[in-house]
This record gives sequence, C-alpha cells and structure tokens, in this order.
Amino acid sequence: MKDCLFCKIVNKDIPAEIIYEDKSVMAFKDINPQAPVHVLVIPKIHVAGMNDVTETNSEVIKEIFETIPKIVQQLNISETGYRLVSNSGEDGMQTVQHFHFHILGGRSLKWPPG
Ligand code: 5GP
Ligand code: ZN
Repeated sequence: MKDCLFCKIVNKDIPAEIIYEDKSVMAFKDINPQAPVHVLVIPKIHVAGMNDVTETNSEVIKEIFETIPKIVQQLNISETGYRLVSNSGEDGMQTVQHFHFHILGGRSLKWPPG
C-alpha cells in the first residue's frame, strides 16, 4: 500500500535489517530496540491491523505462526524465551498501521507491560 512504511520495507524502497524473508512473510530488526533482540514479523501483504484479519487474508497469519519458531531458533532465543506482542489501535499504542508482531528477547522481560 502506498505511503505505508512497512509496505515500503517489503518493496525494498527503504532499507531494513531483514533477517528472514519468504514469499509471504518478512522479519526485520526494529529500528528502536526495546530488548537485546527486537524483531518485527509482518505479512508482506498490507493488513492494517488485528481488526482487519479476515477469512480472505488469514492464511498469511498462519504462515507467520509457522515461521516464528524458525526465526526464534535463528535468533538463539528459542530456549531462553521471548515475548510475542502485537499492539492494536490507540490504547494498544500501535504506531505503524501494517499488522506486525514484535519478538522481544535476550533479557528477562517484565510483566505486566505498562
Ligand atoms: P507499534 O508501535 O506499531 O507496535 O510498532 C512499530 C514498531 O516499528 C516500533 O517498535 C518502531 O520502533 C518500529 N519502526 C518504526 N519505523 C521503523 C523503520 O523505519 N524501520 C524499522 N526497522 N522499524 C521501525
Ligand atoms: Zn503496509
């Protein structure tokens, strides 16, 4: 989608440290990491957020979940643990309107989040 930051990363119009890519999923390092490991996992197609997941596009969400175990293995946090987060809407503090999961790890994380 034009003017979407993450679509621009998918299209390689703006650079990112891509750590995983296949036909429908991409993962890259967060530009402002909140933990030693902070990676964003996104569908390559534009889905604005959790509220926009439908029967038509949910296949890619399944693919994301199939990909996460491979990514955390690659990041060496599979055994030590990690947190998978998706912020949604204003109260959830979603700032980029292209559906994404944060993978946070590499340190002991606090709970509950703020
Ligand atoms: P949200 O706030 O929507 O849950 O997450 C958006 C994330 O995207 C933030 O953690 C932010 O640091 C990250 N981000 C924003 N702009 C860029 C960018 O241009 N490149 C990368 N790699 N990450 C970005
Ligand atoms: Zn997009």
